[in-house]
Amino acid sequence: MSTKTIEEKQYLIRFKANTKSHLTVLDHDICSTNCPDKLCTLFCPGEVYKWEGARMQVGYEGCHECGSCRIGCPHENIKWEYPLGGHGIVFRLA
Ligand code: SF4
Ligand code: SF4
Repeated sequence: MSTKTIEEKQYLIRFKANTKSHLTVLDHDICSTNCPDKLCTLFCPGEVYKWEGARMQVGYEGCHECGSCRIGCPHENIKWEYPLGGHGIVFRLA
């Protein structure tokens, strides 16, 4: 049995992005003042969250729908929903 690298596994993923984000950072001031380590930028496997000076940018199009940000944000500052039906991540079987 062959073992796939992370890069090979990532190649099997496709995204069908909606025009509306299914992820919302509720209060950017909390990120700025109460979360010095910006933990979402560390635990998100899709690298969806990027700190841009005073605001958290949310690249929802690349979300893997793992749900980690529902429990990983120490301030419960991320509203997480599934993308609308027919949108989001698509897995291809190899
Ligand atoms: S982990 Fe939560 S509070 Fe911290 S930067 Fe991310 S969204 Fe903001
Ligand atoms: S559900 Fe997972 S991949 Fe999507 S934004 Fe949250 S941590 Fe990142």
